[in-house]
Amino acid sequence: MLYLVTTPIGNLKDITQRALEVLGDSDVILCEDTRHSSILLKHHGIQKPLKSYHKFSESKRENEVISLLREGKTISLISDAGTPCICDPGERLVQKCIEEGISVTPIPGPCALIHALVGSGLRTTPFQFVGFLPKKRGQLQETLLDILTYEGTTICYESPHRIKKVLELMAQLDPEREVVIARELTKKFEEFIRGPAQDIVEQSNFKGEIVLLIDQCRHDMWESLSLEQHLKMLQDTFQVSQKEAIKILAKIRPIPKKEIYNKFMKSNQKYS
Ligand code: SAM
Repeated sequence: MLYLVTTPIGNLKDITQRALEVLGDSDVILCEDTRHSSILLKHHGIQKPLKSYHKFSESKRENEVISLLREGKTISLISDAGTPCICDPGERLVQKCIEEGISVTPIPGPCALIHALVGSGLRTTPFQFVGFLPKKRGQLQETLLDILTYEGTTICYESPHRIKKVLELMAQLDPEREVVIARELTKKFEEFIRGPAQDIVEQSNFKGEIVLLIDQCRHDMWESLSLEQHLKMLQDTFQVSQKEAIKILAKIRPIPKKEIYNKFMKSNQKYS
């Protein structure tokens, strides 16, 4: 049996009785960093063999773990923080267990994205979780455009070093969009910073661990801009040709694509 055991995301007290029992009954505990996890286990008086299982060893370790599970061993997988498989190793192992007919039991507990969502004050359904935002500018822009047109709350994990760049881009695209920065969750300096993108970008305290939440798309959000003004804004923000900007415009304005193409293609001399 494979258990996916959720551990705290900051506050060591956030671990369930059931999680401790399962860890205490395991033959082996797989973890990302044995030194990090031994602190948690020691704190709870659990002494079990720890084996490293991180993103670089996942494929190498897989067969070994499956053999142990086939022998009938009880194995628990934990990560450095929170729920395994959520931007942490485990997804592949779970898929392999399912293929092999091996039981998988998740043991619930904290997850930064859920903690951030419920404390954000934004709509909790529907929501989409996009994990870490892409690092490359082009991919980041594309992802942000998808996020800005999503009709529900979007949740992203982001590093404190990159958050400013993301917020700047968002403030250019939709300055009034409500965003929430949930930082240092469950820790001493837990904080929810809420406001329009253009105000939040001015703040400087983006230290520590961060979850970024973005409010749903409003249909009136670009109403104040004419199509021509919007086209110019997209060109300036993304540094793309008019043709590329027309494609983006057709994607994000709630107007039939044909209408946009007709409008600009008709006067293509002016816009090409
Ligand atoms: N498996 C974890 C979970 O269940 O949330 C996520 C692991 S992922 C490698 C780490 C990212 O999760 C951080 O960069 C941050 O975006 C978010 N995170 C984890 N703990 C957090 C906390 N205490 N406060 C805010 N964000 C946190």
